[in-house]
Amino acid sequence: MNATIFIGLGHMGAPMARLHSAAHPTFVFDVVPAASGGLAADSEATAIASLEAIPAGVDTVILMLPTSRHVEQLLVDDGLFERLPKGAVVIDMGSSEPQSTQQLAKTAGEHGLGYVDAPVSGGVAKAETGELAIIVGGAADHVAHAMPHLEVLGGDISHVGDAGAGHAVKALNNLLSATNIAAASEAATIGAKFGVAPDVFIDVINTATGMSQASQVKFPKHILPGTFASGFAYDLMLKDMKIAMGLAEQVGFSPVTTAAFETLREGREALGERPDHTEVARVYEQRTGIELRASEYGGEEAR
Ligand code: NAD
Repeated sequence: MNATIFIGLGHMGAPMARLHSAAHPTFVFDVVPAASGGLAADSEATAIASLEAIPAGVDTVILMLPTSRHVEQLLVDDGLFERLPKGAVVIDMGSSEPQSTQQLAKTAGEHGLGYVDAPVSGGVAKAETGELAIIVGGAADHVAHAMPHLEVLGGDISHVGDAGAGHAVKALNNLLSATNIAAASEAATIGAKFGVAPDVFIDVINTATGMSQASQVKFPKHILPGTFASGFAYDLMLKDMKIAMGLAEQVGFSPVTTAAFETLREGREALGERPDHTEVARVYEQRTGIELRASEYGGEEAR
């Protein structure tokens, strides 16, 4: 039996592990025991209480952890690399730092293991349906090993280069995504000040060339209703932007995305605990006093 251990069962990992377990034998693990227990109860997955003993037959490990620090801690400091059988492949599907990934891939090779970065885009909604966009970095033979696992989780799977390249592209994608939300919030605020209701404004933008995923999805689903619960944390978005800003330093000219990064960074404190990334819009609301609610929610005040 070829089995997989899926580690990290949060907003994204839980639905992904559920789908994975329907297609391949899957053990699941999270530092929060209730997360693995809960998932095992309503999926084909088998919960494991620790990673000290690797179940027989495991040849693949999928990680969906918050940051590179979590990944390094688990693989190197806690010794998971040491315990995996030779030939196994580790697939990091979180949004990690490309330079850390390059180093981990090297260390994996020294242990006789393969390493693939396969970060995703599409959020919780696409994680639930198995339609994530997956951006892959790694050596061809390791990517070939990973492919049957990735195919269960994603629609568009793009192999963009060696280990770390997937994580670089993912960080840049999120830099663009956050910049688009900030830009749409900014334009909607200016429009509202002039007297155009935010929902009217967004509807029009979605028929015109200013549209983006921010105007097509983030605004109608999360910002205009004021719910902000997209399932992707503001702090994780800031992490991704910071990774991309580190890459941008090599170029030395990134005025537009740098301004978006600074806007999110400076706005963070006033948002309180655990904001959603769509609360970028609230940074504009707090600074201007203009609400970006749909008119049916905000009434005259939104205008
Ligand atoms: P999350 O915080 O909801 O989940 C992370 C999970 O990892 C938690 O359940 C936590 O208990 C677990 N964990 C932490 N350390 C662990 C360890 N050592 N061993 C086992 N489990 C551990 O985060 P998320 O929103 O699911 O995001 C995960 C990754 O995916 C991040 O890198 C994020 O940037 C990326 N991402 C998130 C989204 C989204 O919409 N939420 C979209 C694309 C990419």
